[in-house]
Amino acid sequence: MTDINDDRVRAGGPVPASGGASSWLAPQPNELRVLHVEDDPLDAELVAQALRKGGFSFSVVVVQTEAEFERELRAQRPDVVIADNNLPQWQGMEALDVLRRAGLDIPLILVSGTLGDVTAVECIKRGATDYVLKDGLARLPEAIRRAFREEVLRERQRRSDAALRESEARLEALVQSAMDAILAVDEEQNIVMFNAAAEKMFRCSQAEGLGQPIERFIPQRFRAAHSGHVRRFGESGTTNRTMDKVGTLRALRADGEEFPMEASISRTQVGGRALFTVIVRDITERDRAEKKLAAKMAELARSNADLEQFAYVASHDLQEPLRMVAAYTQLLAERYRGNLDENADKFLGYAREGALRMQSLVQDLLAFSRVGRVGAARGLVDCNAAMEEVLLTLGPAIHESGAVVTHGALPVVWADRSQIAQVLQNLVGNAIKFRGKEPLVISVRAEKTGGQWWFSVSDNGIGIAPEFAQSIFTVFQRLHTRSEYPGNGIGLAICKKIIEHTGGKIWVESQGGRGSTFKFTIPCDALGEKELSDEEVSMSSP
Ligand code: ADP
Repeated sequence: MTDINDDRVRAGGPVPASGGASSWLAPQPNELRVLHVEDDPLDAELVAQALRKGGFSFSVVVVQTEAEFERELRAQRPDVVIADNNLPQWQGMEALDVLRRAGLDIPLILVSGTLGDVTAVECIKRGATDYVLKDGLARLPEAIRRAFREEVLRERQRRSDAALRESEARLEALVQSAMDAILAVDEEQNIVMFNAAAEKMFRCSQAEGLGQPIERFIPQRFRAAHSGHVRRFGESGTTNRTMDKVGTLRALRADGEEFPMEASISRTQVGGRALFTVIVRDITERDRAEKKLAAKMAELARSNADLEQFAYVASHDLQEPLRMVAAYTQLLAERYRGNLDENADKFLGYAREGALRMQSLVQDLLAFSRVGRVGAARGLVDCNAAMEEVLLTLGPAIHESGAVVTHGALPVVWADRSQIAQVLQNLVGNAIKFRGKEPLVISVRAEKTGGQWWFSVSDNGIGIAPEFAQSIFTVFQRLHTRSEYPGNGIGLAICKKIIEHTGGKIWVESQGGRGSTFKFTIPCDALGEKELSDEEVSMSSP
């Protein structure tokens, strides 16, 4: 690119003697390269003199014919062409056609003995940069400088046009390859941009879509509301937002099919006019999947409720006949003991034992199915008081096992009092039941993190192998025989149900043989809770 501050146009510097026709002066760096179309050596010298006077450092080659011109043009690309308009074999102006054919943007300045106004205008129209009369050669340097300045401006324009074209092409590629439909509408809400995804989504070609009112793609019943929205958005001063979140938005394909969509709108100012860009996403599939999921969830909830109802009814209704079986086997055993043979006494004993065991299982099952069945009686529960109650209930077991049970300050939570007491009692009771050989130490703590109370009940008992950490919370899941440790395997299942109904989670952390820590969370209740003093409360066996 030619620079306006190029050294070629800087005055001063060594000025080489101009050569005769058809001879090059060896070009120096930064010097102006002139290709001069001229048949008269005297005229050539006059031009060289004018350039020298104008302060140019230059090299020049003089040609007379079109062939010579073409050759020299290729040999060393000149910065400027100076052409005499009247040569015996050739017209200087025709040099312009050669330059154009070669795709070269080199300024051409016409030098002529005489040039009428009409011819001069004609020359400029055909592409000459300027013309200078032979008796006004003093103007030549300024004509060259101006030509360069114009060349620089032209080059700048060319570059910025190219950059603009490139960025437009990039934007176009982006818009066209987007997965979402992208439409732009003008202030009259007519479509001025319609990308490939829009063609597919609205089943309408770009040619058909462009120029159409956007309303065409909005179901009739929403049109009035939509144009109101766009107008208000236009007046709101915001530049972008997602469209109405209340309910699903609907759009209309060209063939009349409606579909649910999600859209965002943005506003830009182009040439003093507002342009709205709308990005539309077809959410038919997502909607379908969500509906399917919701139906499945409802089905699951229904079947869970049925199952719970069944467990409740079964365990409830089984109690009465079971009570009869237990009572009458008891009666049989008492009344006929010694009157039948020895085996009969033994069998009656087994039958009664079985009936009692079944009674206890059914009672546990009933207790389990009752959790969450009737709405929990929620209120503020002081866990310290609940804990004291538990320690009182478990007093004999604590005493017998020699356990030391400590608890830190416990919070007040929003829950069902008897349920919280039940959880604590089941966990502390288990810690006592599954104690090891070492003196038993049980610790109950709570701390608040991330909007939840984190409770822990830890012991130094027999521990639980990690592979059973989940299954122990399932109904009737036990890891030991009844003769090793009594129980039905319902305690932790009840804890889980209570805690989940209260909005928390429960789990166990244990390395088999190294004690267990049962942890559960209860959401903090901003209204109800108050923190209690951090004093340590402890109860040990006397
Ligand atoms: P149960 O105590 O009637 O067996 P749970 O549901 O309370 O039923 O407990 C299930 C099983 O989890 C227990 O049988 C026992 O194997 C294990 N478990 C519960 N608590 C502890 C504990 N603190 N230490 C070791 N094992 C425990």
